[in-house]
Amino acid sequence: MRRFLTLLLTLLSLSGEAAVPALDEATRQLAHDIYKQLIEINTTDSVGNTTTAADAMAARLRAAGFPAPDVQVLAPNPRKGNLVARLRGSTSEKPILLLAHLDVVEAKREDWSVDPFTFTEKDGYYYGRGTSDDKAMAAIFVANLIRYKQEHFVPRRDIILALTADEETGNFNGASWLVNEHRDLIDAAFALNEGGGGRLQEGRRVYNGVGASEKVYVTFALETHNKGGHSSVPRPDNAIYELANGLTRLEKYQFPVKLNEVTRTYFERMSKLEEGQSAADMAAVAHGDADAAARLSQSPVYNALLRTTCVATRLEGGHADNALPQSARAIVNCRVLPGESADEVRNTIVSVLNDPGIEISWVDKPKPSAPSPLDPAVMRPIEEVTNEFWPGVPVMPLMATGASDSLYLRNAGIPSYGVSGLFSEVNDSRAHGRDERVSIPSFYDSLQFLYVLVKRLAS
Ligand SMILES: [Zn+2]
Repeated sequence: MRRFLTLLLTLLSLSGEAAVPALDEATRQLAHDIYKQLIEINTTDSVGNTTTAADAMAARLRAAGFPAPDVQVLAPNPRKGNLVARLRGSTSEKPILLLAHLDVVEAKREDWSVDPFTFTEKDGYYYGRGTSDDKAMAAIFVANLIRYKQEHFVPRRDIILALTADEETGNFNGASWLVNEHRDLIDAAFALNEGGGGRLQEGRRVYNGVGASEKVYVTFALETHNKGGHSSVPRPDNAIYELANGLTRLEKYQFPVKLNEVTRTYFERMSKLEEGQSAADMAAVAHGDADAAARLSQSPVYNALLRTTCVATRLEGGHADNALPQSARAIVNCRVLPGESADEVRNTIVSVLNDPGIEISWVDKPKPSAPSPLDPAVMRPIEEVTNEFWPGVPVMPLMATGASDSLYLRNAGIPSYGVSGLFSEVNDSRAHGRDERVSIPSFYDSLQFLYVLVKRLAS
């Protein structure tokens, strides 16, 4: 019997057959309409308005029976409103925070094959700016809160929803502003946010990713100076060559391999999904094998997960075609492993450059972001629901090489997990790009996944 069950589960996962709870037509329509409404409200930094979107979602929640004081639109700037809503629980246990950003990256009509601000259904996908980043989650959270209210579901602890401004760009970042100005409204035991998601490979579910950690963004300027002179009489010292030689030394340097709880678990679990040398290297690197780390580092993606990276991104120098350069300047952008000191990274760069003539200065100071612990109270329900929905598909802890608003929550002591159950093809990432889209079945699966998961985490 047990063998039969295992076989059945294997067949189910191989065939991509899933056990996602069925969706009734009214709920499907509700989620669709909210999603469409959000996509068609332009929330770009240039001409958009997140207050309009926040007001629209607030109106829906009030109409569904949320008392007015539990649904607030708060705006540090008239165009940069944030929504904070609360479904009251039966105890005073610390709440769960659901976070999604309302703002989207700029999108030009002429770059797209469809209008980015018209919700378009085509070829099995929903198209529009923000469909994946991050209005699917925003729409799903709103739809599910309305469902909970309609069902008279009372969670054990409060469920807070925050839909925010300026995650992508702009001066009124909603997550940071709420943490600083309205901590009481969003204070929570932990948060669910973007930064995770399921990976598909040619339609097959590979894993359900949970973002638990992010690298830290730091930028330095390197500068050299020289007295210069007439280029017909070159001197042995030269600002451009001096800087270039320093950059060449930096190019050859690799920061040491360092794993944390998230990346170690990632490589351990990935080793079971990969094959051959790659699988062996992933299993070995989790236990500190240097040769395995060196082979994996040949992949830019794995290299970025294994160590801090610093890379030259801009270069300028000189002032005339016929003059010796009086100065040269390069920008070096670093992505520092969480928990590593940016001051130490700076010291390492100074010693690798090995030239006191190269001045180094901070362009961006680091905003540290400690990894969120893989707490069983959060991870186990994610694993359970994932296994119920998509038997055999593993949950994969992820460290992002970029940053999201989870940074501000983590720094405020609110552990944050990127989890959506929204699956997309590994080679079809269009967030921030043209023709952004989400597969229609994936959207509704994610709606159901988050409905069940949030309920379980709050019960
Ligand atoms: Zn985003």
